[in-house]
Amino acid sequence: MDVQQTIIDALKQAGINATAQRIAVGRYVLLEADHPTADEVKAAVDKVFPKISMATIYNTLHTLEKAGILRAVKLPHTGRVVYDRNMEPHYHMIDEESGTLTDLEAQRVKLQHELDKEYDIHEVEIFFRGVRKTDQ
Ligand SMILES: [Zn+2]
Repeated sequence: MDVQQTIIDALKQAGINATAQRIAVGRYVLLEADHPTADEVKAAVDKVFPKISMATIYNTLHTLEKAGILRAVKLPHTGRVVYDRNMEPHYHMIDEESGTLTDLEAQRVKLQHELDKEYDIHEVEIFFRGVRKTDQ
């Protein structure tokens, strides 16, 4: 997948000019970062485009989200929103010491429920909290 072209196509499809700034936002989230917040995206893109506005950051992230290229994940309790390029079904481990978010493949978690009769379930979000064992 040519990430740059995917970003350009998604922006164009949304009727937004694929400026170098917006492409930089997309490239950072899709190629370099790991679950960044919008502020972290701004800090990274600021190094190349010091005048990029927070509105441009949010608009670009929102456009890429609507195009199905990334998704916004709202973390429990803090309400912090991070941007996730992993579009495969997965859950998250929050490290209580470092605060880092690690992807857990869906097949590593066995989830049982009896809700299908009552609900059409579209998505399941699970956050594990813990610390990595030092002998691992
Ligand atoms: Zn993730």
